[in-house]
Amino acid sequence: MNIQIKDKFFRPFLKEQQLKDRIAQVGADITEKYKGKDLVLLGVLNGSFIFLADLCRSIHIPLTCTFVKISSYEGTQSTGKIKNLIGIGENLNGKDVLIVEDIIDTGNSMKHMLEQLSDLNPASVSIVTLLYKPEAFRFNYAIDYVCFEIPNKFVVGYGLDYDSLGRNLTEIYQLDTPQLTKSGMYNIVLFGPPGAGKGTQSEKLIQQYGLTHLSTGDLFRKHLGEGTELGLLAKKYMNEGHLVPDEVVIKMVEEKISETKDSKGFIFDGFPRTTAQAEALDQMLAKHGLEISGMIALDVPQDILRERIKERGKTSNRVDDQDDEKITTRIQVYLNETLPVAAYYEKQGKFQNINGVGAIDEIFGQITSVIDSY
Ligand code: AMP
Repeated sequence: MNIQIKDKFFRPFLKEQQLKDRIAQVGADITEKYKGKDLVLLGVLNGSFIFLADLCRSIHIPLTCTFVKISSYEGTQSTGKIKNLIGIGENLNGKDVLIVEDIIDTGNSMKHMLEQLSDLNPASVSIVTLLYKPEAFRFNYAIDYVCFEIPNKFVVGYGLDYDSLGRNLTEIYQLDTPQLTKSGMYNIVLFGPPGAGKGTQSEKLIQQYGLTHLSTGDLFRKHLGEGTELGLLAKKYMNEGHLVPDEVVIKMVEEKISETKDSKGFIFDGFPRTTAQAEALDQMLAKHGLEISGMIALDVPQDILRERIKERGKTSNRVDDQDDEKITTRIQVYLNETLPVAAYYEKQGKFQNINGVGAIDEIFGQITSVIDSY
């Protein structure tokens, strides 16, 4: 039966019996592999608590259980997040550690965890995960036990949450409505720091899906070129790498949405750049009976961003591309004011991160697989 949590609808995906059977099999494999060893199950909170409870009871050798939590805080890297392990009080020296995860998505948190665990000198470290999303995974370390490989879709239940709810559901559900908007449009926010490749990827997306490109940076530059009042107002902010005030940007976007007819949807590029803009966008779209399908973020380290922007500056004629100090300001503004917008969409279950370093077509392939999963 379909269920509703807050504003979202979910349909059954993995039944209780399927979970039970598969966990029993994996438990038997682990029992066999760890006979005579000093096994520690290391659960990653919060999501893994139910999986770990069932898994440990299907492993029939002596073992101990302990838990960690990964906390992230804003840092200075391009993703803005640094991960830390809390709760590793246990002495893991010489133990055979099996990390228990509910889901491995991009694999980023697990990578940090593996790095930090290796400092504690365990005899071995392996991974067991209930769910694994091969399309989203971005690393190449081994995942030793996978109960279920699943498509790149949002899931909830059996320990996994949507906005902290749904962990107590006995089976796993998948987000229902393809997040297509009411009128069958895709409305996508392409997100990332300056130089992440949003413009390049937008052009390809327009061709593939026939979407309307709404780049606030381009719109401002057009006004600037035409010398309009709005252009003059925006100029001083843009040239210094600062954000144009929210009310000005929001009004411009509202006009653009209202005057667009017969569109198959929008790619928002460079907008929303603040949480206030994200809230305003939701409201504007709702007025037209529309909603955002998802945010796709391009993740690129700072040193590569700088190189790319400077390279672009040779031909772009953009004052803000040419000067180290302005580039630094733009990256700082992104980290301080724009990054929280990702959390806004993550909370709605609409956020997807993609590695923005690599061949343009490869990155494009990853973006289209996210869009096709909506
Ligand atoms: P972009 O081409 O997206 O890098 O934008 C160039 C400049 O336009 C930015 O550095 C800002 O000054 C201004 N701008 C573009 N989009 C926005 C926005 N959503 N909010 C505030 N300022 C913006």
